[in-house]
Amino acid sequence: MNRRRLVVGNWKMHGSRPANAALLDGILQARPVGCEVAVCVPFPYLSETAATLVGSDVRWGAQDCSAHEQGAYTGEVSAVMLAELGCRYAIVGHSERRAMHAESDQLVADKAKAALGRGVTPIVCVGETLAQREAGQTEAVVKRQLSAVIHTLAHCAGEMVVAYEPVWAIGTGLSASPEQAQAVHALLRAQLRAAAPHADVMKILYGGSVKPDNALALFSQPDIDGGLIGGASLKAADFVAICRAAAQ
Ligand code: PEP
Repeated sequence: MNRRRLVVGNWKMHGSRPANAALLDGILQARPVGCEVAVCVPFPYLSETAATLVGSDVRWGAQDCSAHEQGAYTGEVSAVMLAELGCRYAIVGHSERRAMHAESDQLVADKAKAALGRGVTPIVCVGETLAQREAGQTEAVVKRQLSAVIHTLAHCAGEMVVAYEPVWAIGTGLSASPEQAQAVHALLRAQLRAAAPHADVMKILYGGSVKPDNALALFSQPDIDGGLIGGASLKAADFVAICRAAAQ
């Protein structure tokens, strides 16, 4: 199955106005073609990022999205607001938010639903911790996390992007091997097939210490459709090199 690959930068809580301008300029100058490219930036930088990227092939998005439409939710940002800023994507359920903000599977699913309801594609992150992997629980954990989203999105489940991000590989420099990642992606694809008629064209990204030197091997796996890139998305040269690997 030929799926156009997608590479998404997750800037996390990094950046400054001058640093962002230089990074986006580096990406735009390189004009990565042959794959889809997006950057998910901190909320305060969305407006300026949108102004810089509008008219280019590079999309932008957020790193979270409230499950609520509007109201007394101090600090939250709604899908309506993200849509207003032209966001194509919103990452939901990143392991840092699941761990540090106690986000449950159902809350992540509700966030995905809120995003999709406003035309913002949720990038739903799933992944096991090292302890869970060592206890042989990887399959059960990722299936449980994805299942909550599938049930909540119901007939719209096919509209999301899924990102498999083993927690032990995020920011550690220790990537899953292409075979380890593919094994989980195949499980997720099978789960999606049972729920969405066009699961074969859905994108399942891999995230966790993707770098220019391991990207091609990961992206060559049959069920890996691109990457969610943390650290390496902060250097234009590295991010562009990863995009080029995805375009091969
Ligand atoms: C991430 O935070 O989504 C991520 C994949 O980070 P890194 O690439 O730095 O491991």
